Amino acid sequence: MKKLYPDLLYEKIEDIDLDLLKEKGIKGFILDIDNTLVVPHTHADDRAKAFVNKIKDAGFKGCIVSNNIYERAKAFAQEVDLDFVCDGNKPSAKPFRLAIAKLKLENREIAVVGDQIFTDVWGGNRQNMTTILVNPICDKENKFIKFKRMMERVIMKGYKND
Ligand SMILES: [Mg+2]
Repeated sequence: MKKLYPDLLYEKIEDIDLDLLKEKGIKGFILDIDNTLVVPHTHADDRAKAFVNKIKDAGFKGCIVSNNIYERAKAFAQEVDLDFVCDGNKPSAKPFRLAIAKLKLENREIAVVGDQIFTDVWGGNRQNMTTILVNPICDKENKFIKFKRMMERVIMKGYKND
C-alpha cells in the first residue's frame, strides 16, 4: 500500500516547490503528459512550456514518459524540447528505466510528476524515485477528492487498528 502514496501532493504543476526538491537532492524530472502538463490529447500550451522552461532554468533535467503512442509523445516532447519515452505501459519498470538512462541520473535524484496513482506514483515508487502527484487537469475535483478519500480511509484504518 505504501507504494501507492506519493511523496508529495500538489494541486498543480506550478505549485511544485523546486527549492525543496533541490534540497532533497533532486536533479531531474520524469514528466507525464496527459492531465499532468496539458489537457489530454492537446498540444503543449504556454502553461506547459512555461513549467518546462522553469525547471530547465532552475537547472533540472527532464524527460517525458507517456503511455501514449509514439506520434503523440514525440510531437509533445519536441514542443517542449525534451527527450521522451512513449508506449510506456506505466507502472511497469521499462519506461522508467529508459528515462533514467536518458537522464543519466541516479534514481534517488529523480522526481516523477504525474496525475495517476496506479501508473505514475506506483511506477515511480517501485523505482525508488521521489513521486509527486498533481491534481488531474480535467475532471479535477473528482479524482483529487477520490484520492484524498482513499488516503483518508487508509489512514483511518491504521488509526482504528492502533
Ligand atoms: Mg496522465
